[in-house]
Amino acid sequence: MSNFIKKPPVVPCPNCGTELVWDSANSYRPFCSARCKNNDLVAWANEDHAIPGQPLEDVFSEDLEGNY
Ligand SMILES: [Zn+2]
Repeated sequence: MSNFIKKPPVVPCPNCGTELVWDSANSYRPFCSARCKNNDLVAWANEDHAIPGQPLEDVFSEDLEGNY
């Protein structure tokens, strides 16, 4: 079996589902392209990490005063 070639794993892109080869040369892993990678980052930032009208510094100082 000297001609056996191990195939690299193929994974679906989390953003669009396009199958891509999991290769160390692919810098967009696990995404298929820079566009999908950016789309995912934007969705992530918009979903859970926006705190409207509440600056982080205010939350921190209130917390410190209450616990001291
Ligand atoms: Zn994709």
